[in-house]
Amino acid sequence: MDADGYTHEIEVKNMCMVADVPEFNIENIEMNLKEYVCQDCGNKFKGLGNSVICPACKSSNVEIVS
Ligand SMILES: [Zn+2]
Repeated sequence: MDADGYTHEIEVKNMCMVADVPEFNIENIEMNLKEYVCQDCGNKFKGLGNSVICPACKSSNVEIVS
């Protein structure tokens, strides 16, 4: 019979197993998001963390909009 096909079926089943990930708290993350404006291209975006870069031009020359 088709031995290769059988092996492939087993692999797919293993890959489809979902990892037991703890629930992600989206509300907490959104509370920590700050609005930034890029000083280089004027793009406004929401960012998180200390090393925020503009998603449009990859500049780190951004300021928090308060
Ligand atoms: Zn920019």
